[in-house]
Amino acid sequence: MTEALTRHLQVVPGRNGVDLAAAERAVADLLVALGRDPDTEHLADTPRRVAHAYAEMLTPREFDLTTFPNDEGYDELVLARDIPVQSLCEHHMLPFHGVAHVGYLPGARILGLSKLARVVELFARDLQVQERLTKQVAEWLQRHLAPHGVGVVIEAEHLCMSLRGVRAAGTRTVTSALQGLLREDPRSRQEFFALAGVNA
Ligand SMILES: [Zn+2]
Repeated sequence: MTEALTRHLQVVPGRNGVDLAAAERAVADLLVALGRDPDTEHLADTPRRVAHAYAEMLTPREFDLTTFPNDEGYDELVLARDIPVQSLCEHHMLPFHGVAHVGYLPGARILGLSKLARVVELFARDLQVQERLTKQVAEWLQRHLAPHGVGVVIEAEHLCMSLRGVRAAGTRTVTSALQGLLREDPRSRQEFFALAGVNA
């Protein structure tokens, strides 16, 4: 893991590396507890697969935070729409997935556009609640890029809501987090929500 990513991950409390062997044993135990036999041919490889699947879903890919000087003094909103979001709800360890719209009003530096998606992934590949995920992305950008404003909207469907409990399939939960001018200036805020395609 790069030093940069390790440093970014340290902003998330309680996040350590995945112990694959221990996870495999735990999944085998869970299968037994659920009344299934992990020694049958069909389930023999399931603990290993599940452990690797969770490890992947909980580990963001490495990235360098590439920023460039804002030489042209671009001061309008920069917005990336429909960034895929895949995360795991920390209450049920079931996926929630959808899209994020991330925008910022540039200050002295601008960010490589693909990096906005990487910042979303940095916090999404974790046990999460959507509200916290949204806030963490906004706060991270505010802290590392020091723009004049940041806006993050996430729309996601939670499998714990669509497959169990209320079984509200297709329901999307919308959360937003705003910083700086996008929070304080009604015109900028309105422009952000309009470009993000969200009625606010
Ligand atoms: Zn849940």
